[in-house]
Amino acid sequence: QPFPVYLSGAVQRGFGRGGKDLGCPTANLPDESITPMSSVCEPGVYYGYGQVSTATNGDHKLPEEDVKVLPMVMSLGWNPFYKNERLTAEIHIMHDFTSDFYGHEMRALVLGHIRPELDYTSRGQEGLIEDIETDKRVALKSLARPDYQKFASDPHFLDHT
Ligand code: ADP
Ligand code: MG
Repeated sequence: QPFPVYLSGAVQRGFGRGGKDLGCPTANLPDESITPMSSVCEPGVYYGYGQVSTATNGDHKLPEEDVKVLPMVMSLGWNPFYKNERLTAEIHIMHDFTSDFYGHEMRALVLGHIRPELDYTSRGQEGLIEDIETDKRVALKSLARPDYQKFASDPHFLDHT
């Protein structure tokens, strides 16, 4: 087991391809920051903790609730932009943010695998939405285990209190 896997990088703009429409915006990590994950893990959905670790980015400042360590689900998937030759990591943090946080640094600790990457050609968007809901429940259930608690205060995360 490769876990925990440590990731960090500045949040980048993706294709804006409906993450928000699906009720599941995903913050994209820069390509060079995902090697610790892509070198040891298969494409799929993973869970762990994430944090928008810099509150301030230029003139943009996030409130304290938004820079806490929070449960997340992550998709490691093939990127069509690179003809499916490259993996991308996209993280959905389970929290209602006050605004977008493009350009802010994000840190994540990946703790476990949920499922492989699936194909939604037959089950369509409804199937995908259903699976995302299941993924979030699985993530929260797993992170509720007492043994995982220590990871929320891992020194990889920044203390903003
Ligand atoms: P993109 O294709 O640019 O990644 P998305 O629709 O996936 O577009 O939205 C992602 C962006 O939404 C993130 O980069 C972040 O700034 C913002 N965002 C707002 N709430 C969340 C959240 N709970 N988890 C992840 N990103 C979020
Ligand atoms: Mg996204």
